[in-house]
Amino acid sequence: MTVYQYDVCSFLLLSLMLVSMIIRKLYKGIVHKTFTMFVVLLLTNTLCDILSSAPMNTIDPLMKRVLREGGTFLYFILHASVLPMFTIFMGLAAGTWYKFINQHKYTKVVFFLPYAVNIIAVLTNPWTHAVYKIVDGEYVRGDLILLTYITGIFYVLHSFVYLKRFRGVLDKRSIMAFLSIYPYTFLAVIMQYIYPDHMLEMFAYSIAVMTMMIFVIRPEEALNSAVGAKTLSAFRTDMGNIYLSEKEYNIYMIKVGSDSSLIQLYGINMHDSIMKELVGMISEKVRNILPIGTEYGIYYLNYGLVAVSVDSRYAEKDMAQEIYDALTDEVHIEKIYLSLECSVCDISIPKDMPSFDSVINFIDSFEKSSAAPGAFVYGELTQQEKIKMCFDIDRYIRKAINNHGFRMYYQPIYSVRENKFVTAEALIRLNDEEVGFISPADFIPAAEKSGAIYEIGDFVIDSVFDFIHKTEQFGVEYIEINISAMQCMNDRFVEDIKRKLEYYGVSNKAVNFELTESASAILDDVLSRTVSQLHAEGIEFSIDDYGTGYSNLQRIMSEPIKIIKIDRSLIRELSNDKTRAVLSDTIRMIKSIGLEIVAEGVETAETAQWLIDKGCDFIQGYYYAKPMPEEEYLEFLRKTS
Ligand code: C2E
Ligand code: CA
Ligand code: CA
Repeated sequence: MTVYQYDVCSFLLLSLMLVSMIIRKLYKGIVHKTFTMFVVLLLTNTLCDILSSAPMNTIDPLMKRVLREGGTFLYFILHASVLPMFTIFMGLAAGTWYKFINQHKYTKVVFFLPYAVNIIAVLTNPWTHAVYKIVDGEYVRGDLILLTYITGIFYVLHSFVYLKRFRGVLDKRSIMAFLSIYPYTFLAVIMQYIYPDHMLEMFAYSIAVMTMMIFVIRPEEALNSAVGAKTLSAFRTDMGNIYLSEKEYNIYMIKVGSDSSLIQLYGINMHDSIMKELVGMISEKVRNILPIGTEYGIYYLNYGLVAVSVDSRYAEKDMAQEIYDALTDEVHIEKIYLSLECSVCDISIPKDMPSFDSVINFIDSFEKSSAAPGAFVYGELTQQEKIKMCFDIDRYIRKAINNHGFRMYYQPIYSVRENKFVTAEALIRLNDEEVGFISPADFIPAAEKSGAIYEIGDFVIDSVFDFIHKTEQFGVEYIEINISAMQCMNDRFVEDIKRKLEYYGVSNKAVNFELTESASAILDDVLSRTVSQLHAEGIEFSIDDYGTGYSNLQRIMSEPIKIIKIDRSLIRELSNDKTRAVLSDTIRMIKSIGLEIVAEGVETAETAQWLIDKGCDFIQGYYYAKPMPEEEYLEFLRKTS
């Protein structure tokens, strides 16, 4: 007499999971969809297991026979699919499935062949009775039953090897959850061996699946419910799958121009509501454009940054434009009417972005890009823009390092007191023969991320130190060199500088290091120590881009700083009365604590005069001179000194 009550438990458990998946709408997206299908598969499999073995003595014999035959037949078909499907689910959750299945032309064959053999054996069973037969209404095993065990073992081993190979991309929790299927089923098999009538296998599966549901399916990680879109972490997984699948997708990135002021004005809760409204508007537009039922992904990547992914086969040519147009409508939340100023960018992958990393980097650069609010970056980008947008800049940096593609330029700085150009700022240039000029404002941040900044920094120091001698005869007192905070954090930096000063025979008075305001704001112990060590060696420091961050003069005063460089964004706004007032105060304050001032980005005579009147010590900008190559700079000095 079989004990089939475990199957009943399993059936209830799986039904509960299914209902929970449906209520929580966890059937969208490939991973969730596969998991839901897996639960449905186990559920029907359990039902068939009950039909194949439960006593049905009170039922009409013909009916009993139909249920028994049908149930058993379906049981074997479904049962053969459980383990292969488990592996597929695991692969999709890890984002490695396509990579695995496309790696070799035989991979597919090896993976699906045992399954196919198994299925054929079951399909032909009504004639061969090789796998099982029904005798007097009861199920009896056939010789070929061994086949199902062998394929079962094959898939268990296979999934184990798979898990081992891709364990690097899964977190520990998921690995443990996936692994749980083995002891559970192993225990079930042992138990069933000891108590042959206890049908435990499906129960073991359902417990394992529940473990997976708890530990692998984590909607809170994939879904930002406050704004109704998927999260950055889901974006990473999905992009990973897209790249590995080698399919073509269009990604539309939407940035709200004035986002940080929205947060300041309305607070984070209201901001979320605004973003939810925005996501809704985008979603509705995309749904209207795409053929009915087409899937698309919508993600909330960061404050004010939304992405939509659409299979390129369905993406319309001017979809970005249409999304953009839809967003010019007013957003209406409670009593607030807002018109958001968005920029939209259309990227085709893999065409525009060769790798997963470039997309992730791009999010960063798009977020920071100065594309004016309302600007529309779209479709056919020029080669130059593409480089900027794609941010596959690492490759060009590498190339420039290998082929000596960097050059130093010098921008003369006018000294008010001495009425001549006694100093200059060294600025790096990258001119790529393929794509032309790449701005340091773009490649320096990339180099800081990739670590290439150390090599670039070495190049800058070497070439400036090597060049300085040629400027001395013209009365140049020192050259300002931009130093990235990253460089300073390197514990070899101080020693390197000392060694190089000596090697090139450069006086410590002949150079001045510029650190940006943002670096000084995070002046941590290491940076602070570096600054004071170099200062002890006689090197002076400037604070660059003053006025762009949250500088704390008090904090700056505690460091050995000699010069403050007022950022050109403030200088540019000089026509504005308020900025003028703020700037006057700032200059007075800096002077009062005894620091020198450089005004950057001065483009007109009036601006220069105003700053001189206010007491700035140095003026730098296109009004006097643009950055120029070495020879030109020497020529400039020859003429002006
Ligand atoms: P920065 O240090 O603020 O450099 C001043 C920037 O303003 C330079 O841009 C310069 O060409 C530009 N500029 C100068 N006068 C004017 C003007 O009158 N009007 C306008 N509109 N712009 C003016 P550049 O050369 O593109 O450099 C951009 C940034 O890249 C620099 O900003 C600096 O942060 C970084 N950078 C440049 N060279 C180096 C370097 O050798 N090492 C490091 N770590 N960073 C560098
Ligand atoms: Ca600078
Ligand atoms: Ca600056």
